[in-house]
Amino acid sequence: MNRSQSEKLWQEALGVLVGGVNSPVRAFRAAGGHPFFVRRGFGPYLEDVDGNRYVDFVLSWGPLAAGHAHPAVLDAVREAIGAGLSYGCPCEAEIRLAQKIRAYFPFAERVRFVSSGTEAVMSAIRLARAATGRNEIIKMDGCYHGHADSLLISAGSGVATLALQDSPGVPADLARLTHTVPYNDADAVSRLLEERGPKIACVIVEPVAGNMGFVLPEPGYLAALRDLTARHGALLIFDEVMTGFRVALGGASTLFGITPDLITLGKVIGGGMPVGAYAGPAALMDQVAPAGPVYQAGTLSGNPVAMAAGLATLETLEKPGVFEQAARRMAELMRGLQERARAAGIAFSAASLGTMGGFFFRGEAPRTMAEAKTSNQSAWRAFFNALLENGVYFAPSPFEACFISTAHGETEQVTVFNAAETAFERAKNFEKTS
Ligand SMILES: *Cc1c(COP(=O)(O)O)cnc(C)c1O
Repeated sequence: MNRSQSEKLWQEALGVLVGGVNSPVRAFRAAGGHPFFVRRGFGPYLEDVDGNRYVDFVLSWGPLAAGHAHPAVLDAVREAIGAGLSYGCPCEAEIRLAQKIRAYFPFAERVRFVSSGTEAVMSAIRLARAATGRNEIIKMDGCYHGHADSLLISAGSGVATLALQDSPGVPADLARLTHTVPYNDADAVSRLLEERGPKIACVIVEPVAGNMGFVLPEPGYLAALRDLTARHGALLIFDEVMTGFRVALGGASTLFGITPDLITLGKVIGGGMPVGAYAGPAALMDQVAPAGPVYQAGTLSGNPVAMAAGLATLETLEKPGVFEQAARRMAELMRGLQERARAAGIAFSAASLGTMGGFFFRGEAPRTMAEAKTSNQSAWRAFFNALLENGVYFAPSPFEACFISTAHGETEQVTVFNAAETAFERAKNFEKTS
């Protein structure tokens, strides 16, 4: 595969962008090699500047649930931009997208839009602290909630990929307020709440983890978090930035039938444009300005073009059978990879929920970040690069989930399975021999 144009751009990028990128995992550090530069995306494909095509299972890290450049989404955006890019005044599209969210998350009576998942979570934490009059928070090791200071403690995603512990620049006084416990360990949360309950403002969790790789909550885990937080007067925040409209229409709250106090959303609800949101019951959300005293604002919040892209994406997903078919393809994809790994005699575990999934080079699916870290990363690297060479793009990190869109079909499935057979053979050279 010729990647000379990408290579040229990469050298230029290194001279002007920090580490060559604007978000760390894009730099391919975990995968080795250099990233490709994209010329365009269409349906399930990315095309790089050298003309190579890749079946894309990253989808801009989740948002593109209807695939790249979906005609209905582009039409909605074109119509919106014809009327200007931003008003700084209310517009109808904000109401329509909020109503759509509320239809799927009935407890989310009030929605506030922001411009990223990071902002959504940061604001939800502020609200939780204000509402409870408490300062400390509990998060799970390996969960990623954006790059706000309080949440960069034992974080997943790029923080885990680059094997950074915590980030310099986060004041120790602030870090002390964030307690971390392993994912899927309700007892650890219980012990912390017993010990420090009156100080804990909230427990925040990815209800299905997608930033330590894809890790499912064990049966009863989320319900236990709901019980424990209620008992100790702490709020439960489901960070559904990734799982929202991915693990199900709606999200994990809908799927597992658990009502958190607040949810955060992002990614799919913007359909590829910068959108985040936090939402919850009116009594809680109405503490946010201007209804209440908790300040939070945004110059571009509720941007009309972004709202249009999000709304069109959600409308595409909710057409009868569309989401279900994409979810079925994701399940088939993971099953197909699992079968081929087994045939190759490789320790591998794959799983999915809705249109989100993932795999580890490890015989058993991990339950925690600590277990995820024991997966065979050399085998993963060989597998990732062999797939890429054959036109299949999974996330360039062993600690990221993968995604499918409504545009992925049979043809792409065949491409992946063929490439995977070669890639598993390559990965086999890195199986631990003990
Ligand atoms: C991506 C992600 C975020 C951060 O969203 P940004 O838009 O990248 O700021 C927060 N939480 C979760 C669970 C995410 O997956």
